[in-house]
Amino acid sequence: TLRTPYLPSNPTIPAARFFSSASSTPIRATLFPGDGIGPEIAESVKKIFKAADVPIEWEEHYVGTEVDPRTQSFLTWESLESVRRNRVGLKGPMATPIGKGHRSLNLTLRKELNLYANVRPCYSLPGYKTRYDNVNLITIRENTEGEYSGLEHQVVRGVVESLKVITRQASLRVAEYAFHYAKVHGRERVSAIHKANIMQKTDGLFLKCCREVAEKYPEITYEEVVIDNCCMMLVKNPALFDVLVMPNLYGDIISDLCAGLVGGLGLTPSCNIGEGGIALAEAVHGSAPDIAGKNLANPTALLLSGVSMLRHLDLHDKAEKIQNAILTTIAEGKYRTADLGGKAKTTEFTKAIIDHL
Ligand code: NAD
Repeated sequence: TLRTPYLPSNPTIPAARFFSSASSTPIRATLFPGDGIGPEIAESVKKIFKAADVPIEWEEHYVGTEVDPRTQSFLTWESLESVRRNRVGLKGPMATPIGKGHRSLNLTLRKELNLYANVRPCYSLPGYKTRYDNVNLITIRENTEGEYSGLEHQVVRGVVESLKVITRQASLRVAEYAFHYAKVHGRERVSAIHKANIMQKTDGLFLKCCREVAEKYPEITYEEVVIDNCCMMLVKNPALFDVLVMPNLYGDIISDLCAGLVGGLGLTPSCNIGEGGIALAEAVHGSAPDIAGKNLANPTALLLSGVSMLRHLDLHDKAEKIQNAILTTIAEGKYRTADLGGKAKTTEFTKAIIDHL
């Protein structure tokens, strides 16, 4: 049986302390539609949530390099404050120029809001066939440091340096989250993914922290897997893995690999967990400029991210209802978007989900 992927509240601060699902006042949540396909898939989420009577009032903030050509709107104090105040939000993809230009808005958000763990569930969808039918794993990515420290400079002409920063504090924090997640969700194994044979100091410290935390969770099997071997094992037999925890860049790459195992980037959700009980859900994928504005995008990844946000808010019945409608629509196969081999437009797929609510 398929265990429903479930994103819990912050291990130390239960979300329920901030929100009451019993209250009749709608919960305010921040929404960043983002760049590229972002506005189209965000529209789909809004429509489906409305049709399912989800008691959420969206506070929309247009942030992204493409959303407002006049301002090239970067992150503003207001948009950060909105997430801090609401403590919960949904984020569309934000584009980043390659090899030049401004710092990634995604990275800035993670740093500013201290979103330290990025949780990326990946599971085989019932009724949608890929090479595997038994994928059910969770990638937990350290989200604030590592190769994403942003410390890059030219040493002399033709030589550049980029610093990978690993700290004990951030490693312990994400490891604690991973083990707590495993425990709360009845998962049996946590695998720390690393390259400590080469990155002896940085990944070495990451592993040391994972081992320390593992000792506090004797009921959970702990193992360490070198990243190259991990890739091979994932492609050969993804059922070997349960919860995976790893430094930032490895998490970015491995989660896209995992998306490929179950049908692609249109399907995989994530949630950024921050200090102080903040949860900012987002799809794993980017702004997909190749299909933007064409009504072709698959909104499933953002929708399932929204579902994880609902679970964070303890709105489990709404989460279940929407998740079932999405999975049933995909399993039936009549309305699938192009990335899943179908002909349905984003709006037709959205309507089909609403009809299944
Ligand atoms: P991408 O994820 O945007 O696209 C990769 C491929 O997957 C493309 O062929 C795209 O059409 C397809 N795809 C992605 N999402 C899809 C969906 N929902 N439905 C159907 N097909 C989908 O990756 P990229 O092209 O490397 O990056 C584009 C931009 O997005 C870059 O500027 C990058 O920096 C940014 N990006 C942002 C985030 C984020 O906001 N968290 C994550 C990754 C990339």
